[in-house]
Amino acid sequence: QKDVDTPSVEVKDKLLGGLIASGFDERSCISRYQSAFYRKELLYKPSPNLISRLRSYEALHKRCGPYTESYNRTLEKLKTGHPLESTDCSYVVWISFSGLGNRILTLASAFLYALLTDRVLLVDPGVDMVDLFCEPFPEVSWFLPSDFPLKNEFNSFNQNSPHCYGRMLKNSTFTNLSRSMSSSFVYLHLVHDYDDQDKLFFCDEDQTFLQKVPWLILKTDNYFIPSLFLMPSFEQELSDLFPRKETVFHLLGRYLFHPTNPVWGLITRYYQAYLAKADERLGIQIRVFDSRKGPFQYVLDQILACALKGNLLPKIGKETLIISESEKSKAVLMTSLSSGYFEKVRDMYWEHPTVTGEVIGIYQPSHEEYQQTEKHMHNRKALAEMYLLSLTDVLITSSWSTFGYVAQGLGGLKPWILYKPENQTAPDPPCRRAMSMEPCFHAPPFYDCKAKKGIDTGVLVPHVRHCEDMSWGLKLV
Ligand code: GDP
Repeated sequence: QKDVDTPSVEVKDKLLGGLIASGFDERSCISRYQSAFYRKELLYKPSPNLISRLRSYEALHKRCGPYTESYNRTLEKLKTGHPLESTDCSYVVWISFSGLGNRILTLASAFLYALLTDRVLLVDPGVDMVDLFCEPFPEVSWFLPSDFPLKNEFNSFNQNSPHCYGRMLKNSTFTNLSRSMSSSFVYLHLVHDYDDQDKLFFCDEDQTFLQKVPWLILKTDNYFIPSLFLMPSFEQELSDLFPRKETVFHLLGRYLFHPTNPVWGLITRYYQAYLAKADERLGIQIRVFDSRKGPFQYVLDQILACALKGNLLPKIGKETLIISESEKSKAVLMTSLSSGYFEKVRDMYWEHPTVTGEVIGIYQPSHEEYQQTEKHMHNRKALAEMYLLSLTDVLITSSWSTFGYVAQGLGGLKPWILYKPENQTAPDPPCRRAMSMEPCFHAPPFYDCKAKKGIDTGVLVPHVRHCEDMSWGLKLV
């Protein structure tokens, strides 16, 4: 029987510098140890602090995870509503919400929050999380058991729910009450439409209260990590864990997200058939937030202008035939919901020679036409495509798209970001190089917790800046 490991993986650092634990069963999740074989050497090594924090998290998870004695005991508090005696385990439950790119970013955010607050992360499997991702922690599952008492309420949790933290704060008797008692669970509404009270989650004082709550139920569609870096109570630990701040999602993503075998099959078959043999790989991620039916000429113009300006693709020549001097080949992986852009770029490099003689292959795995939920193959393909983009050498991404953020983060790539088109015209300049590979937090708070007044949180420290693609967003650099 042939081993799933190829010999060269042995030479590669398949544990990613100690980021991933050894000892998992390899066959049940081939990507976990094989992904190193498809990537360049990990450029940004995890710090010794991060490695030891992950190992101690894994031990905590094993002690407190689903159906352990501690889990059962803490669950009793939820059922009986007796929060007063202290518990030895507390939890953050992540609700499956929004598109796949969003979910990957919010799950990484929830995990880091769990690390910082000594909580155990439990994942609502939703429709397809089990189908897409392997278990990241050894021995005990990260999935929330289906008999979890509040599970049927997840969909209806909103800002008006009695246990919603922002709503609790609006209730004037709460502040006095909170001193004497706490709740067995709190719902945290960190969705883009959240209000000023919900945003107090990002204040140290409020964290002191939340610390006492054994069950935090979190719904979010935002990568909220940049704002954790602005909280004095987390600042020191974050800088110990991540001496290079722009590696946060890169490292957490590589630690947490291992595609299941069916998705890994989609990734590796495609990679080997179309990308592996090229000298260079360029990824182009196209996400058009225009409700009309595309493809649009202005989008195509912008993509080409960006690729040519950055020398990411060669110009085409006027002659019909150029005897090729260069044998260099470039594989271009395009992703988009529609096939229009791909067909135009592919035809362009078929109908005309390149001035450099480079051989350009253009590939697009799928064109699903519109965003779909609850369909397994659709989301498998979406994950496979984000992952394939992350295996390229150079990346062009679309503004505002978490799909692109995931690709750049997993790949450790600083992409060229296409500016968001206004009035259906290609912007000039068409794109710019990102400051860092980090995702953008689209709906950050602008509040000074100490002074209790509004403040621009994008200018407070050098490592938390406004994003390239969204002027009010925040990102780590
Ligand atoms: P965002 O909306 O760009 O921030 O990204 P999300 O991943 O959160 O949501 C978009 C969803 O639309 C994805 O999860 C996919 O289901 C689908 N989608 C968007 N672009 C693509 C694409 O290029 N390929 C595939 N297969 N699906 C896509």
